[in-house]
Amino acid sequence: MIVADFIERFEAYCPPSLAEEGDPIGLQIGDRNAVVKKILVTLDVRPQVVAEAIAAGVDLIFAKHPLIFRPAKTITTDNPQTKMYLDLIQHQIAVYVAHTNLDIVPNGLNDWFCEALEIQETDYLTPTHTKKFYKLQTFVPASHTTILRDALANVGAGVLGAYQGCAFTSAGTGYFTPNVEAKPFSGTKNQPSAVPEEKLEVSFPEELLAMVVETVWQHHPYEEPVLDIFLDEGKRENYGLGRVGNLATPIPLADFIQRVKKTFAVPTVKVIANDPQQMVQRIAICGGSGEKFYPDAIRQHADVYITGDVYYHTAHDMEALGLTVIDPGHYIESFCKEKLVRLFNSWQLEKEEDLTIVASKVNTNPFSFQ
Ligand SMILES: [Zn+2]
Repeated sequence: MIVADFIERFEAYCPPSLAEEGDPIGLQIGDRNAVVKKILVTLDVRPQVVAEAIAAGVDLIFAKHPLIFRPAKTITTDNPQTKMYLDLIQHQIAVYVAHTNLDIVPNGLNDWFCEALEIQETDYLTPTHTKKFYKLQTFVPASHTTILRDALANVGAGVLGAYQGCAFTSAGTGYFTPNVEAKPFSGTKNQPSAVPEEKLEVSFPEELLAMVVETVWQHHPYEEPVLDIFLDEGKRENYGLGRVGNLATPIPLADFIQRVKKTFAVPTVKVIANDPQQMVQRIAICGGSGEKFYPDAIRQHADVYITGDVYYHTAHDMEALGLTVIDPGHYIESFCKEKLVRLFNSWQLEKEEDLTIVASKVNTNPFSFQ
């Protein structure tokens, strides 16, 4: 397996298009054609993680937080940050990053948090994207329907839930008169033609639009194929950051705080509580640093908002608005390491290939609890 194979499989699950604008994600260092035998999964790429990767003979580091967040003006060993870049390059270790796209993707980090905290019936906290769907309609001689239908299925058109290659055909008659300049697939110049054709209908998501058009041009035998493309008004897929959902029953805030501490193995959390006796059931969560989304937690009637890095003055605003907040720190995102290893292993990449996937053992939390 090469780096590009891993990226292709990962991005089929978690497309880069889900990331927030300007988020530095994707392959940050390395050669897409390099062979991968060992992958190290980490939250942060820090010097200790790079040392761990070198010692373990890792070919690819998969990181949740971007290695390169700000462009480097110089790359020297004087600066610990850029020394890491040099070490990675010298040891031919590639670094791939999935950041906000991993926060947004269904079955991503925030869903894993909800599962661990027993938050059910979840929805997005802050909507970010709406994916549109289109319907292609084209008319094709019956001899070429299967060829075109297969070609469209191969580029991913016609996926409906757990079904792929979905399409509909109906038989009819096509009418045309080729002029003197035409090079018709069937019919005679200047003679009106009526030929048996099939109408082929396939639906597809917006990101496949260019690919679908190209596929029809490639596989349709006509000089001037009909390409009717409609927006499917009835079909949308929504995506968003964070999640909001419910506990099975209301529980005392103090009990829920204990649950958060236990789940994320943190000895203390910061809490904004107007009423310590409060019973809580509706929980909003945005792992990492999600304080700016707190108005969405209020809008969605959350009893509690869990997020890290809450700033002192924002905390005053939250308190004044009566929002209960639990700040367990940004490092709870390290939860993703084991989850990602399990997810990648479930793809069974290692069965076909000689591949080992491990979670970094380095604690990259800059804070300790004293
Ligand atoms: Zn983060």
